[in-house]
Amino acid sequence: VKGDGRTGHRFFEQEMDAQLQSRRHLEQDLIQALKAGEFALHYQPLVDLASNQISECEALLRWHHPERGMVPPGEFIRVAEEIGLIIQLGEWVLQQACREAVSWPIPARVKVNLSPIQFVDQNLVRTVKRALEESGLPSSRLGVEITESVLLQNNEATLATLHELRQLGISIAMDDFGTGYSSLSYLRSFPFDQIKIDQSFIRDLMLRNDCRAIVDSIISLGHSLGMTTTAEGVELPEQVTELRKLGCDFAQGYLFGRPQPLHSVQEMLAAPRPP
Ligand code: C2E
Ligand code: CA
Ligand code: CA
Ligand code: CA
Repeated sequence: VKGDGRTGHRFFEQEMDAQLQSRRHLEQDLIQALKAGEFALHYQPLVDLASNQISECEALLRWHHPERGMVPPGEFIRVAEEIGLIIQLGEWVLQQACREAVSWPIPARVKVNLSPIQFVDQNLVRTVKRALEESGLPSSRLGVEITESVLLQNNEATLATLHELRQLGISIAMDDFGTGYSSLSYLRSFPFDQIKIDQSFIRDLMLRNDCRAIVDSIISLGHSLGMTTTAEGVELPEQVTELRKLGCDFAQGYLFGRPQPLHSVQEMLAAPRPP
C-alpha cells in the first residue's frame, strides 16, 4: 500500500499500545501468580557418569498460568528480574526446593538457579540459611547455579557472598560455561565446585571437531582447577560414550530424564539403577 503516512503512524501507535498492555498484564499476572500458588518446581536428574547413579537434581521453575497454560521460564524470568519480583520468587524457589528435597528417597543434592539480581539483595545468605533451617535440609544437599553475568556485576560484594555460601557447605556451579565473554579470567576469581558445559557444545559434540576440542579443553581445565564437570543437554547415547572418553564427571539431559514434577522424580530416585 502506498504511503498514507498518518494511517501507518496510527497503526504503529496501536501496535505499541498493545505491546505495552500485554507487558503490563504479564507483570500483573506474575505478581498475582506468587500469591495464587501458580508456580511449581520441576526436577531434572544429573547422573554420575562413573557409577550411573543420580547425584543431583536441578530445580527448574514452572508457571501454570490459569488461561495461558504452562509458561516457560524463558518468557517470565527476565520480566520478574526487571520488576524486582525475582527476589521474592527466588526466595520461594529456595524454600520450596529445600522443603521438597527433604522427602526424597535418596540424599541427592538439589540445585537451585540464582539470578544476578538476587546477589544485589543484601539478604541472600540469610534467605539461604533460613530455607535450610526451616526445612531441615543439610547444607551439603543444597547447590546453587550461577551464570557469569553474576560475576560481571559488582565483584567484591558478589565474591564475598559466594564465599559465605561456600562456608555454609553449599556447592557452587558455574552454569552455561563457554557462552560468555570472559569465561577464563573469572575462574581465577572464585573456586567453583562444578562447571556446567553449555548445551550448545554438547549438541554438536559428534558433528564438529572444534566442539569436541572445546569440550575436551573445558574438562581438562576444570579438573586442573579442582572442579568437577557436567555436560548439559545430553540427548544421545553416543554423546555419553564420547563424554566418558573425555573424562566428563556428570551428565544432564533428556536422555537421562526430562525436568519432571516432584512425585515422578521421587519415583525415579527410588528406582534401582544398574551400575
Ligand atoms: P538452565 O539453568 O541452563 O537450565 C537448563 C535448561 O535446559 C532447562 O530449560 C532444561 O529444561 C533444558 N534442558 C535440559 N536437558 C535438555 C536437553 O537434553 N535438551 C534440550 N534442548 N534442553 C534441555 P528451562 O527449564 O526452560 O529453563 C530455562 C532457563 O530458565 C534455565 O536455564 C535458567 O537459566 C532459567 N531458570 C529456570 N528456573 C529458574 C529459577 O528457579 N530461577 C532462575 N533465576 N532462573 C531459572
Ligand atoms: Ca542451571
Ligand atoms: Ca545451563
Ligand atoms: Ca541457560
